[in-house]
Amino acid sequence: MARRVGIIGYRGMVGSVLFERMKAEKDFELFEPTFFSTSQQGQAAPDVGKPTGPVKDANDVEALKSCDVLVSCQGGDYTKAVHPKLRGAGWGGYWIDAASTLRMAPNAVIVLDPVNRRVIDSALSKGVKDCIGGNCTVSLMLMAIQGLFDKGWVEWVSSMTYQAASGAGAKNMRELLLQMRTLTQGLGRTLDDGDASILELDRAVSKLLVSAELPTSAFGAPLAASLIPWIDSAVADGQTREELKGHVEANKILGLSPEIPVDGLCVRIGAMRSHSLAMTIKLKKDVPLPEIEQALAGANQWVDLIPNDKEATLKRLSPAAVSGTLRVAVGRVHKLKMGPEYLGCFAVGDQLLWGAAEPLRRVLRILLER
Ligand code: NAP
Repeated sequence: MARRVGIIGYRGMVGSVLFERMKAEKDFELFEPTFFSTSQQGQAAPDVGKPTGPVKDANDVEALKSCDVLVSCQGGDYTKAVHPKLRGAGWGGYWIDAASTLRMAPNAVIVLDPVNRRVIDSALSKGVKDCIGGNCTVSLMLMAIQGLFDKGWVEWVSSMTYQAASGAGAKNMRELLLQMRTLTQGLGRTLDDGDASILELDRAVSKLLVSAELPTSAFGAPLAASLIPWIDSAVADGQTREELKGHVEANKILGLSPEIPVDGLCVRIGAMRSHSLAMTIKLKKDVPLPEIEQALAGANQWVDLIPNDKEATLKRLSPAAVSGTLRVAVGRVHKLKMGPEYLGCFAVGDQLLWGAAEPLRRVLRILLER
């Protein structure tokens, strides 16, 4: 196939990480890139080591149509507005997208190739042209416990998430840091005074957290020194849209029929980068723990099984330990008191890599190799 690839939204959080990964893996050598933005048109494109021309207008359908593949990290509203125009104008290229808009469309495949290469190949061979990255937490969950699904052991999964600020994009990351600054600056020299009353410090923080001084326009609530047990909009049955995605996307990615229930609460926490999940997994039978550990560790080359002890957990099982790496750490693996079929585990991975950029750049390679 021809090799004209448009990259839309390269300067956002997902787009920047995708760009870095593509540069590191020398992906730009495989195609002719054009960069698109809704706000930077006419500016110099980022350096990929070869001429690309200036940044083009991401709303210019004619310019977009000249590409064989478009990779969008621009967001759902953009996809909603532009994708129908392109398809309506007869564009038959491949659309690769980080946004959720098209994920559940019947003519779209959700891409996570270490887990569902078979599903991707089957979709492409049927002429599917929309290849959409999965929800970040869902993709990380599947990378983490792929071994259990591959063995057919899973009856259901309850996943309670601890999601980083970067999951909400560039503006929200800045807001978390600004909140941290407001708190620490608001305490002034009291924070440096080791003899200051801890209650005084605590009261000052509590006051700042609910004051107008704390910037909250992006998250709508304090996140630093707090948390937000609500992500995205409400859907039916008391769930949020983020929680709904756990079930529908996991089942679509794996191509499961009958479906396996996946549900739980999604919580935003003050981590900067990397999402975590505490999972309760009901197995179909009592599988011995060593067999479970072997299945988890051997499922893909990125899963990193962490021994269930304090030292290894503190060192290797946290957002701080995995951020910026492709490692998906799984630890705290043990049977729960509910019975021998109930497994508890904790997983953490960089949602900007396996949860966003990595499946997109890998499916681009799959398409270019066809
Ligand atoms: P983002 O950081 O907000 O970037 C989206 C766009 O915002 C950029 O392409 C840029 O477009 C514009 N923008 C405005 N101000 C900016 C600034 N100060 N710095 C950088 N860009 C700025 O959003 P994102 O987190 O990358 O998410 C993009 C899509 O991926 C969304 O649909 C999201 O749901 C999905 N996704 C995100 C994650 C994640 O962990 N963040 C994971 C999986 C999927 P212009 O150049 O056109 O101005």
